[in-house]
Parts: sequence; C-alpha cells; structure tokens
Amino acid sequence: MGKLFGTDGVRGIVNKELTPELALQLGLSIGAFFGEGSKILVGRDVRRGREMLFKAVVSGLLSSGVKVYDAGLLPTPTLQYAIKHFNYDGGVMITASHNPPKYNGIKVMGPNGVEVSREQERKIEEIFFSEKWKRADIYNVVEEVPKQFGIIDSYINAILRHVDVEKIKSKRFRVLIDPANSVGALTSPKIAKKLGCKVYTINGHLDEDFPGREPEPTTETLRETAEVAKSLNVDVAVGHDGDADRAIFIDEKGRIHWGDRSAAIICKYFAEKGFKGKVVTAVSSSILIEEVLKPYGLEVVWTKVGSVDISHLMLKMGSEVLCGFEENGGFMYPPHIPVRDGGMTLALMLQVLADSGRKLSELFNELPHYFTLKTKIPMLKSEALKVVEKVAEYFKKERLIRIDGVKVLMKDAWVLVRPSGTEPILRIMAEAKDEEKLKEIVEIVKKIAEETVGKK
Ligand code: MG
Repeated sequence: MGKLFGTDGVRGIVNKELTPELALQLGLSIGAFFGEGSKILVGRDVRRGREMLFKAVVSGLLSSGVKVYDAGLLPTPTLQYAIKHFNYDGGVMITASHNPPKYNGIKVMGPNGVEVSREQERKIEEIFFSEKWKRADIYNVVEEVPKQFGIIDSYINAILRHVDVEKIKSKRFRVLIDPANSVGALTSPKIAKKLGCKVYTINGHLDEDFPGREPEPTTETLRETAEVAKSLNVDVAVGHDGDADRAIFIDEKGRIHWGDRSAAIICKYFAEKGFKGKVVTAVSSSILIEEVLKPYGLEVVWTKVGSVDISHLMLKMGSEVLCGFEENGGFMYPPHIPVRDGGMTLALMLQVLADSGRKLSELFNELPHYFTLKTKIPMLKSEALKVVEKVAEYFKKERLIRIDGVKVLMKDAWVLVRPSGTEPILRIMAEAKDEEKLKEIVEIVKKIAEETVGKK
C-alpha cells in the first residue's frame, strides 16, 4: 500500500504533487473515515492553492454525506481548539505549516482537536488507495457549507483563562510579533493586546507569497526580526511558522533562542510554582530539560520525533502530564489543548516574564549552556539503521534511548543518531557543555558511519 501521510499530515507542491484531484479523493476518504452525517470543521492558512484545495476536500466530504462547516482563515491550533469547543466530530486543516511557500498540505483532526493517530492515518490511506469511498444517497448530500462564527474570539478567551491577565497587563510589556505574513497575524497580536502589551508586528499582513521571510522560524529566517526587536528594545519578540503552532522567542538583546530552551524556561516556571507532572518531548530535544527539572523531581518522558506522537502519548498519559514540547518551538499545554499552540505559548511566556520580574535574556542566561552540532550524511535508510546499531554498540556503557534511532546520554553531553523520516539521510545531533568534547563525539559517530557504509 502506498503512503500519503508524512510526519505531519499530507504535504506536497501545489498543482504538482498536491492536486485538486488528490485533495478530492482525500476528501472522499476522510468522509468515509468519519462517516455520513458527521460534522466536520474545515479551515486553511494563507498559502497559495488554499481555496482550490479547500473546495476539493469539501467536495469529497459533501459527496460522503458529511456536514461541512467553514472555519475560514485561521491558525491550526485555533481550528483544533474550535473542533473541541464547538463539538465537531473532526476537522481538516489546509496547511503546509513551516514548508516553503509553494507547498500546501492537509491535516486531519479527531473530535478532541488532536491530529488523528498514526493508526487512523493508515485507515484513511487504506480507504484512499482501495477507493472504498462511501458516496451518500443524493437526498443525504448537504447543500450548504455554513460558516462557523466566533472561533477566533473563543480561542483567544480560552488562552486568557490560563494566565493572570491583570498581572501581565500591569507590566505593560512591549512585544514584537512576526507571524510570517500568515494566519498567526489573526490571533497573536490580539492575544498580546488583550494582555495589555504594546504590540508591534513585522511581516504582519496576510500574503500568500510570504514576502517577508520563509514560513519556518529559524535563526536564519528570523535575523531581520531579531534586529528589529533589538532596535525597538521590546521585552520579547516571537516568530511563528505558517500555521502559528510554533513559537520561537527572541530576547530584548535580539538573541534568537531555540524551542527546547524556551520550553525549559516555561517548564522551570511551572516547577517553581509547584506544578506536578511529567514533561513529554521527542528525542531530538536537548537533555537540558532533564537537568533543569531534576532539582524539582519532575520527570522527562522521551518520544519519537513528530508532534503527533507527542500529543497522542500525552493523551494516553492523561493527568500524569504537565506539558509537552518539540525543540522547533512547538509547545503543548494540555489544560488548554494537548497540541502545539504558538498563541498559548506566547501568553505563557508573558506570564513567566510578569511573575519573574526578570528580563528574558536573564532567564535564558540562567539555563545551562551547551554547544550544539547538527549534521547529516546521505545514505539509504537500511544503511542508516546499521550505523545506528553500531553507534549503540560503541556507547553501550552509557544511558541509551532506543525509541527513534539511538540517543546516547553522557555526563554533560548527548548525541542522537537517526535515519530521517522523509529523506535518505542519517541525522546526527549532538550537544556538550565542552566544545572539544562535542567535536570528539561527532567525530566518533562520523567514523563509525564511514566504517559501516564507506566514505560518502
Ligand atoms: Mg506548524
């Protein structure tokens, strides 16, 4: 059977890989999956092809006898909140998240707003490839696609219920928001405004061509935003991805901080407040989080790489969980919704700043410092798996996590070696407090790779 879903939904270049024909058939498959008479909320971000793909997916859903409601343009977490809040049976989001502008994609959510599980993705794929669609009797095909009103306001109000609005307001923070010319512009500036902040935006108008920067928030794409943050002397700046489920923070000095470090600040704040529970994150995150939470007795649970896996593990663990995150800026706060949410993360960071009375740069400076190295070696997946085994054997006396490739945890250092989920490459990520040790570890792994599959 073929494969349709990647790490995070179905993705492709618009009109090449992701055509209206494919979207229609996927709509039919999703319709068969949820069943005739179910109520599905469908939204989209600002990307090109959004209306074409929306109408194709909706057409497939309607043909299956599904009742479709139009959520309009909105961030993915806003749709996810609305699915649950307005009691839908599921939802579909037309988005390619952080991918380059010519891409679009389709994500499917269950009634709790969380993306469907890997098993459910397989079920939808099975319907798709076997064409086991369930076209409704003509009298059961719904003739209207009503708009669901009030989504953005109810989402923002839900976020505000999780923070101390008056306290944050009293600080009159200056905040710069970079929504990458996409749907984060519809929510994050409003959240900050309701929290009494003076709000500045960059790349703040909606534009499907992403003229300001690439949709992925990285240290490279946020460079200009960081300069503006510094010159405006804002208390905090935040960069979202194309569907605003990720939040990368920039401090008042214009320094860009990666998501596992900002998550560590929020988790440490929870710990200091006496919150209990486990923190869930993928093996690609820094071990920094264990070091930060250890004094408070809070445990870290490691998962495979992919936010869907983190969310579903959190659902399974239930009240045991405090929060979850990805190193790319996706932070998940289950009392709100157990999925990545850039707007919720911004509100939580403002709460941390308000309570601590410290500058954001000071909070980051207090975290343990690691040197980081990320590299990749092109090779087949079968070769990469061999390298993983050899690395595990070499480091067998250390603490190993064998969930996704191998993560070796040493004193003040770690290395993750795993085959990419999407490309024929071996990914190597390492961190150490000592720069020499970091180089040494990566050289060991590279040498093992070379001995195993030859020089590439
Ligand atoms: Mg995203």
